[in-house]
Amino acid sequence: MPARWRYPRLALVVGGLALLLALGRAWTRHDSPAEAGKTQAGRETQASGLPPGARFVDTAHYRIASTADPRLTQRVGEAVETLRQAYVTLLPLDEARGARMNLVLYRSREEFRRFSAAPSWAEALYRRPDCHAYPGEGANPHHWMLHEAVHQLLVEGSGYRPARWANEGFAAYLGASRIVDGRLQPGTVSEAAYPIWWLEQYRLSGLFDADVDAGQVLPLGEVIDSDAADVAGAVNLHYVHYWSLVHFLMHGEHGRYRDGFLRLLATAGTRSDFERLIGPLPAIQVQWYRHLQALVDAARQQRLDAIPEDR
Ligand SMILES: [Zn+2]
Repeated sequence: MPARWRYPRLALVVGGLALLLALGRAWTRHDSPAEAGKTQAGRETQASGLPPGARFVDTAHYRIASTADPRLTQRVGEAVETLRQAYVTLLPLDEARGARMNLVLYRSREEFRRFSAAPSWAEALYRRPDCHAYPGEGANPHHWMLHEAVHQLLVEGSGYRPARWANEGFAAYLGASRIVDGRLQPGTVSEAAYPIWWLEQYRLSGLFDADVDAGQVLPLGEVIDSDAADVAGAVNLHYVHYWSLVHFLMHGEHGRYRDGFLRLLATAGTRSDFERLIGPLPAIQVQWYRHLQALVDAARQQRLDAIPEDR
């Protein structure tokens, strides 16, 4: 392939792999991880890699070990709870398996890098059983953690092992959704979330093959087949593809592929799974490309908030 986007490896979100409950009543503070560990023997292993001074905060379904500002910790806690509420409207979740999940929230990017043992290019990490992230800046301080929490829900809550493209795409899809009036709205798009902020960098001609040749777009089959080595060579390019493909499958063509995609998450997500559950690659590629164009146009015109409805 000709040269492709090669932005700095500024992103991600490593992932392996969600009931309606009221928020806000379950915030419980513990003086120290060690103290909490006395009554949470099964969580003690988590404490070994925690940053110094981490305090535990509990929500209805999460235990957050945090060194971040308490207000940010609470926002992240509320965000993951509403994420879980949205998740269970889409996918099955085993309540017993997903009763309480572990998050580690670092005070800063520097602290995340020092204590999480994440790869140098990672901005957040899900390493079973914990999600690791730091609060982002600006209007959406929880998007890194939301992304990882989706991986965690898929693996620990649903028992799924999706293909990379579907796993990362779905994590990016929900992780970049906006929270409105305290509820995550799947399919809305926060411009302050990864990988959305890269969208406007695209230069799409309207001619798919030409854009492939120009390194702006990957053929659908390559997206589905992509592995860790492919991603490492062009991280953001792949994540924009993963996110836009899942956004299309959930909302494009008036939502006709949505059920098939959600079923696909429980499979290995191969080309044959894709064609069996969604449709022939050549036809879907054309439709997805049009959807990507619309998303890029919306980003450039700063009207991503108009994207949510099926189209
Ligand atoms: Zn991820």
